[in-house]
Amino acid sequence: MRAFDAVFIGGGIFGMAGAWELVRRGQRVAVIDRLGSGHPVTSSTGASRSIRVAYDHPFYVNLALEAISLWRLLEEQSGHRILHLTGQIDLGPEAKLQSLLDQVQAAGCDIDWLDASALADRFPELHLLPGEGALFHPQAGTVLADVGLNTLALAAAEAGAEIHEPERVNDIELTSVGVRIVTNRRVLEAGRAVMAAGPWSGELLGRLGIKLPLAPAVAQVTFLDTPNLTERPGLAEWQAVGENGADGGLYGHPVPGIGYKIAFDAGQSGWDGEVTDWAPDLDEERRLLDWFHARFPAVPAKVARTQRHPWTMTPDADFIVDTVGGAWGDRLILACGCSGHAFKFGPALGRLVAEAIDLGRGSALLRRDRPGLGSTASATAPITR
Ligand SMILES: Cc1cc2nc3c(=O)[nH]c(=O)nc-3n(C[C@H](O)[C@H](O)[C@H](O)COP(=O)(O)OP(=O)(O)OC[C@H]3O[C@@H](n4cnc5c(N)ncnc54)[C@H](O)[C@@H]3O)c2cc1C
Repeated sequence: MRAFDAVFIGGGIFGMAGAWELVRRGQRVAVIDRLGSGHPVTSSTGASRSIRVAYDHPFYVNLALEAISLWRLLEEQSGHRILHLTGQIDLGPEAKLQSLLDQVQAAGCDIDWLDASALADRFPELHLLPGEGALFHPQAGTVLADVGLNTLALAAAEAGAEIHEPERVNDIELTSVGVRIVTNRRVLEAGRAVMAAGPWSGELLGRLGIKLPLAPAVAQVTFLDTPNLTERPGLAEWQAVGENGADGGLYGHPVPGIGYKIAFDAGQSGWDGEVTDWAPDLDEERRLLDWFHARFPAVPAKVARTQRHPWTMTPDADFIVDTVGGAWGDRLILACGCSGHAFKFGPALGRLVAEAIDLGRGSALLRRDRPGLGSTASATAPITR
């Protein structure tokens, strides 16, 4: 007898979304999390994440639209507010902005170039450089991440998923009917395991002889005590690839009750899976505040807090959601390689996991054998998606 149809290794956004989706499809599901869902050293921790429909690939535009509908459903079911959609302004190289505009319009959604007076209406504190163009789209802003993750976990548990935390998966073995999952507390029999262990995934898979080009990184965010900006749009300042060294672009979004969160969109190397607290990098914070002073010259930048958390880059900045294949077949599913931009898709990530199981393969863009995974991933690569 198999106790579970699927066991998720990791209860971050990938694991909880997958669990919610599979229990709603009538499956018996367990989630095992080593530290506890949303623990401060995991990728899915924290008060907020940017959400936007503006992507330069139709796959992500449509996934973001699906995610907004599902976040709204969770809001209705739980009575908790998860989304704070104030829109987003995109700045950066014209080719990138044009590509965002084309893809968002192709999906039938609103997005427009802003002239100086329209920008001043939307975001009067934001200073544009001479000749700089800006886009605005309304289906964007902020996901209240800790509320969203907790709501998803509760919805999965209420629908029947078993959540065990803190509990560590030490081994996964193939059996004649599925998999055996060995934790520090028990042994579970299941039809399949789903690897959703975020930055720990590469090391766990490596122990099973499965190699993936994953590069965990540590990324930093700074929350500013700027209550006047909590109803302003989010912001993405894209860089041409290779410009501005490892800092990459920058982004920001309003955080109700706190102010405005800002960050570089590239992490640093040096991630260590045993670290229990990542101290802020004050030099990076100073460089970020220099940027803020230039962009928002009239806003005093009082730091509420600065935090570092890990994310996991793939070489092409797309996620990995697929069956492992080979001897593992569809008994081990990959749901990792978040590349620093997965949280917003929240509940919609669960559908990707469920389809990989149903079809025996992930979506083409997210497959393990795609050409984009043919090189080495860089921890310090900026987010290009
Ligand atoms: C600073 C920062 C800013 C970001 N900003 C944005 C943003 O604005 N918008 C956006 O969409 N995304 C953003 N992201 C990315 C997003 O947060 C991640 O893509 C997402 O949280 C990845 O979730 P995950 O489930 O893959 O990993 P995690 O949340 O890390 O979950 C993995 C889980 O696995 C567990 N685990 C590990 N090993 C084991 C084991 N052996 N046994 C059992 N459990 C185990 C861990 O405890 C952990 O809870 C940001 C990320 C960071 C770090």
